[in-house]
Amino acid sequence: MENGANTHILWMKPRGLIVDLSTINNFQNGNTLLNRIFAGMNFELQQAVRKLLSEPQKIVIIPHKNPDGDAIGSTLGLWHYLILKGHQATVVVPNDYPKFLKWMPGNEQILNFERQNTQAREKLTEADIIFTLDFNHLGRTGQMESILEQSTARFIMIDHHQAPADYAEFMFSDVHKSSTCEMVYDFIQLMQDGSLVNSDMANCLYTGIMTDTGSFKYPSTTSMTHRVVADLIDKGAESTKIHHKIYDTNSPSQLHLLGCALNNMVILEEFKTAYITLSQEELDTFKHEKGDTEGFVNYGLTLDGIIFAVIFIENREEGIIKISLRSVGDFSVNEFARKYFEGGGHTNAAGGKSDVSMEETINRFLKYLEENRATLSAISG
Ligand code: 5GP
Ligand code: MN
Repeated sequence: MENGANTHILWMKPRGLIVDLSTINNFQNGNTLLNRIFAGMNFELQQAVRKLLSEPQKIVIIPHKNPDGDAIGSTLGLWHYLILKGHQATVVVPNDYPKFLKWMPGNEQILNFERQNTQAREKLTEADIIFTLDFNHLGRTGQMESILEQSTARFIMIDHHQAPADYAEFMFSDVHKSSTCEMVYDFIQLMQDGSLVNSDMANCLYTGIMTDTGSFKYPSTTSMTHRVVADLIDKGAESTKIHHKIYDTNSPSQLHLLGCALNNMVILEEFKTAYITLSQEELDTFKHEKGDTEGFVNYGLTLDGIIFAVIFIENREEGIIKISLRSVGDFSVNEFARKYFEGGGHTNAAGGKSDVSMEETINRFLKYLEENRATLSAISG
């Protein structure tokens, strides 16, 4: 597919150039001067990256900590492409990920930085190029942050989160994109290699687009997203199989844990908010494994009139409460997570953490809701 006039043009900026994100909207609305500047930048960067990748390189591809469907799908999708182009490439994940993501082609070559530390460090030290995917600042890689900060490799970012940090030599950042997987598809087009997309890439990229769009229902799902997905199906993405692998491979204890979470749900109509807590004890009772709570937070939003849903999950090993926040409409959980819970993400989906007890976390949360009373009541459900 060509990047035609209606395409949501990939936004790139060279390191050090400060661009006010709000100008991007003007750009997309047809501001011709900005259009020309960005188109020129796009062309130059496209040429520079194509040149860089025209010779075989040692490449490491990294997603964020606790990688989700988009993180694993995009890193593996890109990995298949780079391998096909003759590069030596490896995906290194900061830590483990749910087993419903472990069926994707290429999964067996992924190195886990926690479990295969020596091998992973070796790859990072040798790397000429490091691609960072689906995150906006190096802190999102947890334990890998310092090694990445010290690396002399050339960095290429592909990401759709707000407020990207300025660490990469080449930034492919577009907060309007549904997913990093959609951006990897764009990236391959930009490298003029659309004809190389095969069934392995297609299956990986379809997975991340599907999971990050809530199966194509979130507002970030554009007509372009559907065009990309249509092309991926033409190239061999098995949509029915992917839906099954991701959503219909639950164990009984996972559904029992969901039952517990729904029982714990607290509905605060005055704040149009619903929240869920899960203690470590409850997680242990239902033999919780990584990824078992994926999607639980969304149930709050299925309630009529609720626009803000949160789940608080105790992690005794890390000594934190991990928080996932979701909203519909204009209430920005990205701002809420940033302001109160050392986190961030997107307007309607964000995460964060708290290092005080569950009880104290909830007390604080109720106080923060009070601070946002006016904003929350102004937004219609
Ligand atoms: P989830 O709630 O599914 O873990 O994450 C929702 C979104 O917020 C994802 O896009 C994820 O990358 C982002 N996110 C989750 N946790 C954090 C965090 O601690 N910090 C930041 N900056 N983003 C997060
Ligand atoms: Mn994503």
